Amino acid sequence: MFQYTARSDLLKDRIILVTGAGRGIGAAAARTFAAHGATVLLLGKTEEHLNRVYDEIESAGHPQPVVIPLDLEAALPHQYDELAATIENEFGRLDGLLHNASILGPRTPLEQLSGDHFMRVMQVNVNAMFMLTSTLLPLLKRSEDASVVFTSSSVGRKGRAYWGAYAVSKFATEGLMQVLADEVDGTCAVRANSVNPGGTRTDMRAQAYPGENPLSRPGAEEIMPVYLYLMGPESKGVNGQAFDAQQASNMP
Ligand code: NDP
Repeated sequence: MFQYTARSDLLKDRIILVTGAGRGIGAAAARTFAAHGATVLLLGKTEEHLNRVYDEIESAGHPQPVVIPLDLEAALPHQYDELAATIENEFGRLDGLLHNASILGPRTPLEQLSGDHFMRVMQVNVNAMFMLTSTLLPLLKRSEDASVVFTSSSVGRKGRAYWGAYAVSKFATEGLMQVLADEVDGTCAVRANSVNPGGTRTDMRAQAYPGENPLSRPGAEEIMPVYLYLMGPESKGVNGQAFDAQQASNMP
């Protein structure tokens, strides 16, 4: 596991948006960021899931989060503009953006992968992530110390048979991270890095590996050290790097 111990007020006063915050790794990240002092903007498709995380954060006495229901498969450009306007009015800036929402799509040979399925995965995993990044960048640039964290996968670093659109989307995720990192390098206080969570006990993992004993994988709360490190001030200046949540350390 990535080694990092965060102080309890690490993210005090930071405004952090997490996509896919209703379940799995995104929900754990939202709860963890809030527990370290952040005001978390919970974005996801299913309002009921987001409300559950909202209630957990509120009843734990952490800063009051904000629920943002948005279907990233169907979202239109004006909805991204409205989101940015709402954040600007409410907070005036954004200090963190965790791109976490994704869908797995069918795992099948490319020859049998329909264009429809391919495009659906790319819409959620790549296009929506680009739209959020470009629309929210002006607000991130207003922060004194902003961090954008992209969620990758081991199949986004080396292609693997039958992982089709999902693997391609994760390569695109690394690509978007690298382009953004190079653009912001030395020009503003925004940094961009990627995290490969590694096999983690969530609904997506169970969908990908139905025969696996879920307890053989760490829970989402256990992989949080690298997310805290990247969202907090101690990773200032770390830019354009690919991290692994379950590897001991790849800190420079
Ligand atoms: P889950 O399937 O458990 O959760 C996915 C989250 O994404 C949910 O909160 C879901 O929202 C949201 N989401 C899906 N589609 C949309 C949409 N159209 N609009 C808005 N939100 C949407 O996934 P994990 O927690 O396992 O994965 C989180 C990230 O980590 C993903 O990027 C995944 O690729 C990556 N990853 C995971 C690994 C693992 O072993 N778990 C390994 C490697 C990478 P809702 O609740 O509304 O459905």
